[in-house]
Amino acid sequence: MCTAGGGRLDPDTYASPGSFDAARLAAGAGLTAVTALRAGHGDAAFCAVRPPGHHASATESMGFCMISNVAVVAASLADEGERVMVLDYDAHHGNGTQAVFYGDPRVLFVSYHQWPLYPGTGRVQETGIDAGAGTTLNIPLPAGATGDIYLRAFDEIVAPVAERFAPTWVIVSAGFDAHRDDPLTDMGLAAGDYGPLTARVLALVPAGRRLVMLEGGYDLDALTSCSAEVMRQLAGLTGSAAARGIRSSGDAEGPTSAGPGFDAVDAVARHWHQQGWL
Ligand SMILES: [Zn+2]
Repeated sequence: MCTAGGGRLDPDTYASPGSFDAARLAAGAGLTAVTALRAGHGDAAFCAVRPPGHHASATESMGFCMISNVAVVAASLADEGERVMVLDYDAHHGNGTQAVFYGDPRVLFVSYHQWPLYPGTGRVQETGIDAGAGTTLNIPLPAGATGDIYLRAFDEIVAPVAERFAPTWVIVSAGFDAHRDDPLTDMGLAAGDYGPLTARVLALVPAGRRLVMLEGGYDLDALTSCSAEVMRQLAGLTGSAAARGIRSSGDAEGPTSAGPGFDAVDAVARHWHQQGWL
């Protein structure tokens, strides 16, 4: 289709003549990053790729996504015997990544997302099937949810589930459209929320096994400041950015709190308790 000049893959997703080449580069970036990390070239990697990937399944492109970038690298790692945790904090549910690993016990998929919102999946009850039961964790949150809600969900649900799963690699599906300035969603995060959240998940595995891949994010200033905040965490620069001469609005834009979502977190915890997984 791209060779023929491009067109619409679905009502949201326009492909140009260069889109397929860009998508292949994005999908391969995670594999390149893993090779570099294993060679000792760094402690962590940030793949600043577009198009994003988390709405694409193994067979279908949708929602601005052509190939599931995170699923490509997660599947590669799992085939090598690794236990892979994917944390997706894009404001939309990562339905494509979930679909690829829904019955696969080697990959723990965790998604925070606004509910209700496109694409309409990601209910609390979607927890995996067959051998993959209990390795999909969905945390649907109401519009306006703030950083304290995300951290509470992490500490009370994500952390114990992850500890039981015992990942050997962590991949973050880093969409920044849960920022309060994003034009496509209604969540309440600020740049300063992404540092603590990302730090918590990265700490689950040793340095050299940490990969972050860009997903959505449609306010370009927010995309810049949130990416910078996450890269500061990857680089271990958790002190004052200003003192280190690093430009980051994460300092000026501190963590948020007091938004809605406590009941939603309780509902997830209750369901996982009932299943005996928490
Ligand atoms: Zn998104």
